[in-house]
Amino acid sequence: MIDGKQLTIHEVSQLLKSRQVSSCELTRAALEQIQKVEPQVKAIVTITEELAIKQAKQADERIARGEGSPLNGIPALIKDVICTRGVRTTCSSKMLENFVPPYDATVMEKLNDCGVVVVGKANMDEFAMGSSTENSAFFTTRNPWDLDRVPGGSSGGSAAGVAAGEAIYALGSDTGGSIRQPASFCSVTGLKPTYGRVSRYGLVAFASSLDQIGPITGDVTDAAIVLNAIAGFDTRDSTAVPLPIPDYTQCLTGDIKGLRLGIPREYFVEGMQPEVAAAIKAAIYRLEELGANIDWGVSLPHTPYALAVYYIIAPSEASANLARYDGVKYGFSYKDTDNMWEAMEKTRQHGFGAEVKRRIMLGTYALSAGYYDAWYLKAQKVRTLIRREFDSAFEKYDALVTPTSPTVPFKIGEKVEDPLQMYLSDVCTLPVNIAGLPAISIPAGFADGLPIGLQIIAKPFAEETLLKIAHAYQQVTEWHKRRASV
Ligand code: GLN
Repeated sequence: MIDGKQLTIHEVSQLLKSRQVSSCELTRAALEQIQKVEPQVKAIVTITEELAIKQAKQADERIARGEGSPLNGIPALIKDVICTRGVRTTCSSKMLENFVPPYDATVMEKLNDCGVVVVGKANMDEFAMGSSTENSAFFTTRNPWDLDRVPGGSSGGSAAGVAAGEAIYALGSDTGGSIRQPASFCSVTGLKPTYGRVSRYGLVAFASSLDQIGPITGDVTDAAIVLNAIAGFDTRDSTAVPLPIPDYTQCLTGDIKGLRLGIPREYFVEGMQPEVAAAIKAAIYRLEELGANIDWGVSLPHTPYALAVYYIIAPSEASANLARYDGVKYGFSYKDTDNMWEAMEKTRQHGFGAEVKRRIMLGTYALSAGYYDAWYLKAQKVRTLIRREFDSAFEKYDALVTPTSPTVPFKIGEKVEDPLQMYLSDVCTLPVNIAGLPAISIPAGFADGLPIGLQIIAKPFAEETLLKIAHAYQQVTEWHKRRASV
C-alpha cells in the first residue's frame, strides 16, 4: 500500500530497484495499514513488527549493494501453519499457542534467502481444517469485501491480508482447497502447486499426502515470482520431486492460441449460485476469444465421489499426524494431575477445538481394525480412479477450467452448525488434491459486490500452463485490479 494504492510484487520491485521507495518505507506503510484495518479484518495472529523492520533494513542494504531478488524487501504474510524460527507458529490452535519453532520451514529458508520481510503470521482454521477461518481458536477473520462474511479458509488470513493491503503477498497451504477457495472469496490470485513441487518440510502436517504450500498474490505474475522462489527439491521432504524448476515468469506470454481447454460438467454442481455459473461461462468465452479451443462436453464422472474420498483420507492422515500432540513433547500440556493417561487425555480435550476432534474421531474410526478395508482402503481405490480419470482427460486437454467455489463468500456463522454444508464449499477444489495436480484460482467477476473465482487445473508439474492461461486472462480483464475498500 503506497499512497493508498495497492501494488503488486513486480511493480514494487521496480520502485525498489529504481530507489523510488525503500523497503523500510514500504514496510512501515504495510505496518500502518495493518494498524488501520486489523481491528476489522483480523487476518493476523502475530504481527512481527520488529522482525519486519530488521529485515527491511537488511533488504535496503542489499539494494544499496546492487543485489537482491525480485522478492527482496517486499512485505509478506505467512500462514501460521508454516514454521518460522523464533516466531510463534500456532496453527491457530490452543495446542500450539505458545509454540516457537527452533527451525525454519524450507520455504522460509528460501524466502529468507530472497530477502523477505515478514510482517506477520496469518490466521487460519485450526490445523487448516475448515473453509471459513471460523475454526481458528483465536478469532474469525473477516472478508475485506464485506466484513459480515467469511474470507474462506483455511488460509483465510493470508487471502484477506493480501486483499486488505496488509502485505503484498502471502503464503498459504492447500490440502483440499485452502489456498484457492479463500483466494476466490477475497478476489486475489491463489496457486496450489503440484504435490511434490514445493517442500513440505516445516509445514505442520494435516494430511501429508494432500498438503502443499503455495502463493496468494495480487496477480498471476506475482504468483510466478513467488513460485520461482519456493519451488524445488528438498532432501528433507521425501515427497519433494527432483525435477528442474523453470523460470515461471518466462511462460507469461499472453499467447494461448490453440490450447485445448476442457470444461468438465460435473463442476457445475447442483445448488451452484447462478451468478457464479454465469461469470465462469463468461470467463471461458473470454479464453475462447483469446484463441483457446474450448470443449464444453467433458465429463469426469468420478468427480462426485471426491468429497467422500477426501473426508476419509484427510481425517485418517490427520488422526495419525495429530497423535503427536500429547502434552509431553511440546505444545499445550495439561498439568493438573499426576496421572499420565489423564494428562494426555485432558491435554487433547482442552487443546483441540471441536472440528479438529471431529476429524480425529472420523480418521481413527476409518483406520480401525475391521473398518480399514471398508473405508480407508476403499477410499484409496476411488482415489486411483479419480487420478486416472484426470490422466486420460489430460491426454486430450492442456487444462480444465471450472469454478473455484460454487458460491460467493457466505455470512459469518451461516454454516458453522452444519459441517456437511461447510464441507460442500470445497467440492470444486478437493479433486485436485486427491490427484496431486496443480491448480490456480483467479478473480473472474462479482455478484452483488462479492468475488467469484475461476479455477484452472493442469496435469502434474504443468504449472506453466496454468500460469500462462491465467496471465493471458488477466491481460484482457480488470477483475484482479479491483481492490476491497477497507
Ligand atoms: N476445507 C477443507 C477442509 O476442511 C480443506 C482444507 C485445506 O485445504 N487445508 O479440510
